[in-house]
Amino acid sequence: MSASAMPGLSARGISKSFAKGKGEVVAALHEVGIEVAPGELLAITGPSGAGKSTLCRILAGLERPDAGTVTLGGRDLAGVPPQQRRVALMFESYALYPHLTVRGNALSPLLAPGGRLDPAAANTRVDEVLELLEIRHLGERLPGALSGGQKQRVALARMLVQTPDLYLLDEPISHLDAKLRHKLRGEIRRRLAGQSAPSVWSTPDGMEALSVGDRVVVIDQGRVEQVGTPEEIWQRPASARVARLLGDPPMNLVEGKLRSEGGTLYFARRDIRLALPPVLSFAAAGMPGEDIILGVRPADIGFAPPDAPGAVGAEIYSNEPFGKHAIVTLDLGALLAKAKTTMATASALSEGANEGIGRKVGLLFPHDGLTLFDGTTGRALPGN
Ligand code: ADP
Ligand code: MG
Repeated sequence: MSASAMPGLSARGISKSFAKGKGEVVAALHEVGIEVAPGELLAITGPSGAGKSTLCRILAGLERPDAGTVTLGGRDLAGVPPQQRRVALMFESYALYPHLTVRGNALSPLLAPGGRLDPAAANTRVDEVLELLEIRHLGERLPGALSGGQKQRVALARMLVQTPDLYLLDEPISHLDAKLRHKLRGEIRRRLAGQSAPSVWSTPDGMEALSVGDRVVVIDQGRVEQVGTPEEIWQRPASARVARLLGDPPMNLVEGKLRSEGGTLYFARRDIRLALPPVLSFAAAGMPGEDIILGVRPADIGFAPPDAPGAVGAEIYSNEPFGKHAIVTLDLGALLAKAKTTMATASALSEGANEGIGRKVGLLFPHDGLTLFDGTTGRALPGN
């Protein structure tokens, strides 16, 4: 089958600009492409304003792209109105019918003309979904009598009862509390995974994207930064912009310069002088003198006495115990970095006056957990 007739969802070369007044134009999307196979869940992540909702609205037919094509099940959707696209939508701001109860709202897509379910089967499916979302007991309430989180779950229910050609979820769980978010992302994922339709799930939370997506697309400023499996994106972020979105806390990004001395490459920044391990030296060969960004994950930072050989000097800025681990914030000189460490290490560091704040420590950066990004483009150096 030719790629353009792929039976899933395919969006190619999608561009969209908005006029901001005074002749100013904002490019919300620039030549964005995504492919989602039948039954696959593609997570789209990126910071606020990246263009996620604009892309979702274009896929739904609520917005028309300036350029590009969208096909679903091999059908070109240009000019097809939203209600004829067979897309089940759940938008952050998607309104409920105020005059219908929770149950009525959830039932509404199934009772539409041309609905393929008889009322008993429709009710059974609605019960099951309301149960899943823990809102069955609210079935007779009107939306006006619900909290924000409850309304979001009704909108989710209304989406999940459908058997469309595409599921489209724009920030479906972002207004829920942490406990429910945890529960629902697994439940919704499980439910979507059992469907033959492709699904698109957008979220500003990079970790949510990694946990729900079969594959993940990272967009920033309207451009695709990286596409890959969650493992690929976590292990090898394609740019500092991607790295910044992932992890809790995210990767530390330290800006500096590459220096070459006596045939050895160093990462240099103020008092920091760190010999690069062989793999990174190889990747950075030919770049001495250039701006570089050193990426190190919080969990990979080790502690040593301040004068230990190879250690980077820092001062403890703050210390947060979380029970199972602790986050220690470190002042590297006009830059704060975070280390994720054990409670035992954190409590040893915080012994004495003022919980250890201001204490000088040595940091050990791992040889095999560092990433280098080009300081000018932000792209990861190839081969790192
Ligand atoms: P996200 O959902 O990733 O937060 P959006 O798609 O909502 O991002 O927005 C992308 C960019 O497009 C932002 O700069 C936003 O201000 C702009 N934008 C989106 N919709 C409109 C609109 N209807 N009119 C003007 N600008 C818009
Ligand atoms: Mg949005």
